[in-house]
Amino acid sequence: MSNARLEGKVALISGAASGIGEETARLFVQHGAFVVIADVQDDLGNQVAESIVPDKVSYRHCDVRDENQVEEAVSFTVEKYGKLDILFSNAGILGPLTGILELDIDAFDNIMATNVRGMAAMIKHAARAMVAKKTRGSIICTSSVASCLGGTGPHGYTASKHAIVGLVRGACSELGDHGIRVNCVSPYGVGTPLACKAFNWEPSEVEASSYSAANLKGIVLKARHIAETVLFLASDESAYISGQNLAVDGGFTVVKHVVSSLANKWL
Ligand code: NAD
Repeated sequence: MSNARLEGKVALISGAASGIGEETARLFVQHGAFVVIADVQDDLGNQVAESIVPDKVSYRHCDVRDENQVEEAVSFTVEKYGKLDILFSNAGILGPLTGILELDIDAFDNIMATNVRGMAAMIKHAARAMVAKKTRGSIICTSSVASCLGGTGPHGYTASKHAIVGLVRGACSELGDHGIRVNCVSPYGVGTPLACKAFNWEPSEVEASSYSAANLKGIVLKARHIAETVLFLASDESAYISGQNLAVDGGFTVVKHVVSSLANKWL
């Protein structure tokens, strides 16, 4: 008997040329899905698609800031594989690491256009395709621990990740009538290019920094852990879960962070 949890399902993943999206594309295919990778890094996206299983994965250029390109990516998926069961709307940027006093408003607009407007366009067109085909689909958006805590990312990023939770809840309230589930995942720090480029660090340095501030010790958060959570939310194992913001953060967002010397004194 097959252990595949997405056998015959069709998934569209934005931001899958790299990082969390790429890892999820690989895992989805291992579990029997057909995947369309939508990204702006064309060379990398094509390489990733070819390195998985070319028959089961396609690359499509899609800048999520452009609604026409989003609509085309959804149409391409449905035309190529016949339907759309899963949207993993994951493309995102961090933006400049400036404080509120130096906030670059144009950069802020670009973050919102990518992380929020892009996400809204993805949900809109994917949901249209699911409703048209009467697919009881699953939509998963990537938010962040910055969706519920200030001070864990730049201001535009934090605002955008809070907004994604609102989008997910609103879409969940409407799409439930169609049997479509909508959730988000909120990762803690992972050593992907997004984080590495921001600090000019190697993945190991991002991981070391994340680990030192983490609540859960003895394990380093990897893109694979996020992909496994997305697989759960995409599969029938989460059949009655909708509207949730599932943190993959080892408890980081639900504990108060105190300096350990004080904590030791109180215990
Ligand atoms: P990444 O940089 O490896 O991947 C992001 C991908 O999104 C890239 O392939 C990039 O080309 C693509 N992208 C950027 N702008 C785009 C656009 N306009 N249209 C289409 N694609 C675009 O980084 P990642 O860490 O894998 O990021 C994936 C998601 O995870 C993001 O939404 C990010 O905010 C979120 N996240 C990351 C972390 C972390 O620590 N790495 C933590 C929490 C949340």
